[in-house]
Amino acid sequence: MYLIILGPPGAGKGTQSLLIAEKLTLKHLSTGEILRKAVSDCTELGKKAKEIMEAGNLVSDDIMVGIIKEALSQPDAKKGFILDGFPRTLEQAVQLDKILNELGYTDIKIINITLDDSELVKRMLGRGRKDDTEETIKNRLNVYKEQTAPVRDYYLANSMVFDIYGIGTVQEINAKVLEALGQNR
Ligand code: AMP
Repeated sequence: MYLIILGPPGAGKGTQSLLIAEKLTLKHLSTGEILRKAVSDCTELGKKAKEIMEAGNLVSDDIMVGIIKEALSQPDAKKGFILDGFPRTLEQAVQLDKILNELGYTDIKIINITLDDSELVKRMLGRGRKDDTEETIKNRLNVYKEQTAPVRDYYLANSMVFDIYGIGTVQEINAKVLEALGQNR
């Protein structure tokens, strides 16, 4: 199964992706995790991304598309994958379509987790990540609304989009996602 999980920062995409990847034996591709590792390893990528991430802005489309293209070209993507945190702009979505076409991946399903802003802020403040300060959170929510929210509508035209309301326990949300995917055994 080939999945993309969308949703605002703090909606629980990372947590749900891990559970789904384990249950359905998928490669979990989190661009946020890849970037955080690059920052902690002080690689060239990490040096470029650090300040951008700390401000809650987006790393350039070129860089992100390159990372995803390389990751999806690996043989282990064939067993199935879940993209977590990508695409985050319409340009990334358009480029991803090309990559998926080239690599022969069809029938992509989209999980879109929704949640109210007040709940998102509460969750992010409780998480305590370096980019989870009040100012950065505000910016990340704005960036999400302006640049990432339109990605969900982009997919409505040609893909299956499952909107899931993200209130409840981790297990409850997970059950809803698996049910939407027809995998609730
Ligand atoms: P996340 O863990 O998905 O919340 O990502 C953390 C940060 O990494 C984001 O706030 C962005 O600065 C950066 N990032 C992750 N994925 C992308 C992407 N697809 N495009 C641009 N920046 C990204």
